[in-house]
Amino acid sequence: MKRTMVVSLGGNAILKHTEKGTAQEQFKNVYETSLYIIELIKEGYHIAITHGNGPQVGDILLAYYQAKDILPQMPLDVCVAQSQGMIGYMLQLSLKNILNKFQMDKSVVTLLTQTLVHQEDPQFDNPTKPIGPFYTALEATKLRKEREWIIVNDSGRGYRRVVPSPLPIGFVEECCIKTLFLEGTIVIASGGGGIPVIINEEGMIQGVEGVIDKDHAASYLASLIEAEILLILTDVERISLYYNTPHQRFIDKITASQAKKYLSEGHFPEGSMGPKVRSAINFLDKGGKKVIITSLEYAVDAVKGDAGTSITID
Ligand code: ADP
Ligand code: MG
Repeated sequence: MKRTMVVSLGGNAILKHTEKGTAQEQFKNVYETSLYIIELIKEGYHIAITHGNGPQVGDILLAYYQAKDILPQMPLDVCVAQSQGMIGYMLQLSLKNILNKFQMDKSVVTLLTQTLVHQEDPQFDNPTKPIGPFYTALEATKLRKEREWIIVNDSGRGYRRVVPSPLPIGFVEECCIKTLFLEGTIVIASGGGGIPVIINEEGMIQGVEGVIDKDHAASYLASLIEAEILLILTDVERISLYYNTPHQRFIDKITASQAKKYLSEGHFPEGSMGPKVRSAINFLDKGGKKVIITSLEYAVDAVKGDAGTSITID
């Protein structure tokens, strides 16, 4: 029996903060990321992959906005689908080229994933997630009226649209993900948290404008395929207590209860490390064995127990 793992890629794995986001830059990053992923496969793991899409979906929205006089604007769920396709393609191409190079006989497929959310999720009444371009006060007033968007002043930097970030409760394509994974395919699923959809009053699947946290979707995916390990790759080698203070202390190994305690003490902020630790706890509560949080470069060492932070059941 192969050991199973979900690899969750942070923003950095596809686009670095300092880059513009050209196709060339993203292909190069994704290729390097794929080299690390293949090392995990060589270690004997069967993996599924998920990834963030923040900068990419931001660029897609900006592109539509800049072209507003000549192109129709697409709703956010459609933009998330576009970003899943784009990033999935780059991963499929890179992974397949490397698999071929090492004569490894494996298929890779991106599965456009619709993530189910509750129509009654409290986030729909109180959206908090800023997305897309910054607007002027004048543009903001116009867009609020024309598009019924909620636009807020984003920490004095300008006006920005905020959308709900509801919790994932399922994937429409659950069966396909499981079947493909079980037969040995490397499945790329729930990219960017997945395309948010609800089941409406008529019982139909319907896209909604929102952004699902990719860490929460990763945890759901890992539970769904009953992965042993959830490997969350971000841009720090280990998580810390008292992060960014003179008292900072790295964490090597903790249990789910300790993680809960540190979370409640405020060591992991909501916009960054919080959702990762929360989704780690969730996955372990639902039967997962181990969560590892580390950076790409340390992925293989961390899996061997020589780097990163591991969180396990009590
Ligand atoms: P990703 O794209 O991988 O989701 P995020 O920026 O959302 O990346 O989260 C990772 C970031 O969390 C790190 O770069 C770090 O700056 C920040 N962070 C906040 N609190 C902590 C902590 N306690 N330990 C380590 N990193 C932390
Ligand atoms: Mg994040």
